Amino acid sequence: MESNAVIQAKLVFLGDLGAGKTSIVVRFAKGLYYEGQESTIGAAFFSQVLSLGDATVKLDIWDTAGQERYHSLAPMYYRGAAAAIVVFDITSTDSYMRAKRWVDELQRQGNPHLVMALVGNKVDLEERRQVGAQEAMDYAEANGLFFTETSAKTAQNVSELFLELAERLVKLK
Ligand code: GDP
Ligand code: MG
Repeated sequence: MESNAVIQAKLVFLGDLGAGKTSIVVRFAKGLYYEGQESTIGAAFFSQVLSLGDATVKLDIWDTAGQERYHSLAPMYYRGAAAAIVVFDITSTDSYMRAKRWVDELQRQGNPHLVMALVGNKVDLEERRQVGAQEAMDYAEANGLFFTETSAKTAQNVSELFLELAERLVKLK
């Protein structure tokens, strides 16, 4: 690979309302966490630059503005995306079922080289866990997705998630 490669990539967030998409983006982009944050508040767009050894990745991060409430997103939301992060809440089986449907939708409409991650969020609420990590990991592996568990509240695995995706985008080039 050429040194000092600069890659610009659109990254979209999908997942049920309340899964923690906005909280993950805000945690990553601003290093902040708001308890009980109003779901649709927060910017719908953030640009972040990551430096990885000899590559620079500029991520244009798209967060939903609440349209997921209706279990649908306009195709223009993920059109042109190079990467997608599908988030569920580990304390909600429903959000996990929905996450799998978002993955299906992306696989049908997205590009075949789309870099995808499945993320179980709210891992700080371990005592309320409904979705097993092994179950989600097996599903992700079978579908060619990267899997991790995060907490926007404690910041666990949040920057690691973005770094992993950025590395995968660099490898694609
Ligand atoms: P979105 O609808 O997917 O964007 O979800 P939000 O980011 O708005 O989060 C929904 C609710 O879950 C808010 O009350 C957040 O404070 C809370 N939340 C988000 N991430 C976490 C987390 O990692 N742990 C805990 N305990 N709560 C979280
Ligand atoms: Mg949101």
